Amino acid sequence: MDIALSPEQRAIADSVARICAGFGDDYWSACDEAARFPEEFHRAMAEAGFLGIAMPEEFGGAGLGVTEAAILMHAVTKGGGAYAAASSIHLNIFGPHAIVVHGTAEQKRRFLPPLISGKQKACFGVTEPNAGLDTTSIETFARRTNDGYIVRGRKIWTTTAQEADKILLLARTAPKADCKKPTDGMTLFYTNLDRSKVEVRRIPKMGRAAVDSNAVFIDDLAVPDEDRIGEEGKGFRYLLDSLNPERILIGAEAIGLGRDALARAARYAKERVVFGRPIGQNQGIQHPLAEAWAYLESAWWMCLRAASLYDSKQPCGAEANAAKFLGARAGFDACTKAIMTHGGMGYAKEYQVERLFRESMLPRIAPVTEQLILSFIAENVLDLPKSY
Ligand SMILES: Cc1cc2nc3c(=O)[nH]c(=O)nc-3n(C[C@H](O)[C@H](O)[C@H](O)COP(=O)(O)OP(=O)(O)OC[C@H]3O[C@@H](n4cnc5c(N)ncnc54)[C@H](O)[C@@H]3O)c2cc1C
Repeated sequence: MDIALSPEQRAIADSVARICAGFGDDYWSACDEAARFPEEFHRAMAEAGFLGIAMPEEFGGAGLGVTEAAILMHAVTKGGGAYAAASSIHLNIFGPHAIVVHGTAEQKRRFLPPLISGKQKACFGVTEPNAGLDTTSIETFARRTNDGYIVRGRKIWTTTAQEADKILLLARTAPKADCKKPTDGMTLFYTNLDRSKVEVRRIPKMGRAAVDSNAVFIDDLAVPDEDRIGEEGKGFRYLLDSLNPERILIGAEAIGLGRDALARAARYAKERVVFGRPIGQNQGIQHPLAEAWAYLESAWWMCLRAASLYDSKQPCGAEANAAKFLGARAGFDACTKAIMTHGGMGYAKEYQVERLFRESMLPRIAPVTEQLILSFIAENVLDLPKSY
């Protein structure tokens, strides 16, 4: 059993760290305050070839696995930009997986190179206001026409829809009531986000203001047949393929974010002198930070274990869910402790930990909540009865 990173994997992390060093706290604070997309960071990552890390080489990607993608995203959040940095590129990393696996050769040629080069951006429209986590209850409907579909409906929380050229969209093509299984009758499209037919309304939110999240209103959007991914009615199944990698990446991102918060806390604990000594000399300050390190480190190895299982084509549902759960908890925990270590200054924008703290809530909620992760483990690992 070899559990050390390879020299190539370490090189990915080092290279990302060098890019991130060019984007300091002032940059991320300004993006956060102005709710401005970190365009320059997105471009730097595209130019370094990282957007296609897990995409096939024939379309300009690097053809690497989820392990390398997790190492990349962990380095991205650790580099100071937190989720504003990660979410500006997150969809590129594994989002197009359904196109890679189920798209035609023509679709891959048309869709993947512009995403990998950073020329186009995409958003992901699954969640709906009336369905929530119960995805099979989505109501957005794609009605058949002679040469395609007309789509009507609403999505919510669609990230980067202000910036995106394309949308990866899940819609019903048959009502749930007419399907044998609730997961049948949903179809996946990758199509132009035509703003004459789609209204995108930004949602003001707690953190990660730099990367927009939106309510999306789709009003008779025409989608040609050539923008349907795979077969009609099988879209939900196609998305399932990419759920485990996405959970692993979210876990890795949350851990990187937590490591940045912890490093800032340890630095402050050495510098800040109260009662004639550095606050970090007190065990009351040391122990919570040491505990945060232990949680982060154990969550990290769970992420790498899940990624390694996925890359070697072994079942990894429980591990991927645990990686996301533990990563999000450990990241949030480290950010909370970083604020407490800074005392009053933890509440000030100057020290950045409040920005990290606000963003650390996100991986606990999206793309799936802690409750549903625990239900998955209860049902699939512990063999307990399905609860919903
Ligand atoms: C910043 C942000 C960005 C996002 N980006 C995207 C995106 O780009 N694309 C996209 O499609 N979605 C996106 N989402 C949506 C996200 O995936 C959902 O918010 C998340 O899946 C939770 O769904 P919900 O908000 O509808 O919660 P609900 O389904 O309304 O659930 C509310 C609460 O009830 C709990 N609950 C519900 N049912 C059960 C049950 N049976 N047992 C136990 N607990 C239960 C949930 O766990 C949760 O805590 C984003 C969300 C956020 C906050």
